[in-house]
Amino acid sequence: MQMTDENRIKPNYRPKDNENCPCRSGEPFGKCCKSKNNEYYSLGKNYQNRKVIVNLTKSNARFEKVHQILFEITYTYGSSSISISKAIEYLKTLYSLLQDDIDEIKSYIPCNKGCSYCCYSLMLSTAIEAEYIRQYIKADFTEEQKNELLSYLRSNYDPEYSFKRLYELDEKGLNIAGKEYLKKILPCPFLKGDVCLIYEVRPFACRKHMVLSEAINCASGSRKEKRAQLQLFNPVRIGLDVMMQPVERYKGLWDKRTYPSTSIVKTVYEWFSKGFNGIDLEGL
Ligand code: SF4
Ligand SMILES: [Zn+2]
Repeated sequence: MQMTDENRIKPNYRPKDNENCPCRSGEPFGKCCKSKNNEYYSLGKNYQNRKVIVNLTKSNARFEKVHQILFEITYTYGSSSISISKAIEYLKTLYSLLQDDIDEIKSYIPCNKGCSYCCYSLMLSTAIEAEYIRQYIKADFTEEQKNELLSYLRSNYDPEYSFKRLYELDEKGLNIAGKEYLKKILPCPFLKGDVCLIYEVRPFACRKHMVLSEAINCASGSRKEKRAQLQLFNPVRIGLDVMMQPVERYKGLWDKRTYPSTSIVKTVYEWFSKGFNGIDLEGL
């Protein structure tokens, strides 16, 4: 488990008494939350030139909870195994803590329902995330929807973006591949009329796409977006690896070049290449 202080954000902002309280009550800070002695950090200015202030004290509490969960998984299941349903329970908790961190900046960002520029990116996910999506599709989609999805997945699969090929690339190569992918202007299979059909269970990569710049900057080819970096992004990403380690079925799905091993990530085209009765578990 690599949750160190490097994953922590330091307080770098102290609101002035007469400025609007970061809790968004509309009251001046001096008359509102000042006495609570919270710590804050600023992510800089957003597209409306507003200073983005985050309550670090609350975020720290969530950071601690993520840490506890990872500790619990490591020490409870260190030498035994964990079921997929238990791992998904942990995944839901992590997503929910992450959402609370995201809610802190919701009023500052242009990411809203109906905005789907980022849904043309190369979105990669781990096995447990793909399994969570699979279960959702299996339970909630009609046969017709599943067939439609499958035919889209199969006809748009591009081996250039196979996980084995992506694993040959270094960080720079991955970056270039990501930019090249955007040029395909290929919507995510789960995007329908600018709405995500699996929003509730969307993977971490989609959840962390939060921008402080104008939405149009996320359009394909622009690459001028200013991403928001929240404190929980790193711990939750680490959490995905930690909760997958004790799952028997995911044993082969590790990038063995990294230590500690990180889980392999694939596009939905590969996870669901065999349909929705199971994810494709072929490993490295
Ligand atoms: S899963 Fe949903 S949010 Fe993520 S890229 Fe696809 S449509 Fe967009
Ligand atoms: Zn307040």
